[in-house]
Amino acid sequence: MMGTLSDRKYPMKPAATQPYRQTLERMREDLLERMSEQRDGKVSRAELAFEQFDHIQDDPGLINSQRDLAFAIDENEIAQLQAIDDALVRITQGVYGLCQKCGSALSDARLQAAPQAIRCAACQTTFENAHAAH
Ligand SMILES: [Zn+2]
Repeated sequence: MMGTLSDRKYPMKPAATQPYRQTLERMREDLLERMSEQRDGKVSRAELAFEQFDHIQDDPGLINSQRDLAFAIDENEIAQLQAIDDALVRITQGVYGLCQKCGSALSDARLQAAPQAIRCAACQTTFENAHAAH
């Protein structure tokens, strides 16, 4: 039996999202660990998480001053962290695994490759093509 889009029911049951939740939480831990290590362990993972999510959305100026003060924040890492957290929120909301562009179900293969994915493979390709011009 081939694993395709059609064999998954929506909304995904908690039992179905559980492996992805675990993967996402592990990815989040690893990412925070890496970010902490890059800063010579001077900032704990908890502090790092607190710092980013309490300040980043509402006060970009503060981020800049912290950057000058302490360390360069890797925007790519922050984007990854944000994507992981967003995916965890979608699991909680029961909308995990749906393409945010076209609303179709992401394949299990796609979710396994990228549990934080927000677009199906087709929409992701379109998105990347649209943003690859520079
Ligand atoms: Zn799509």
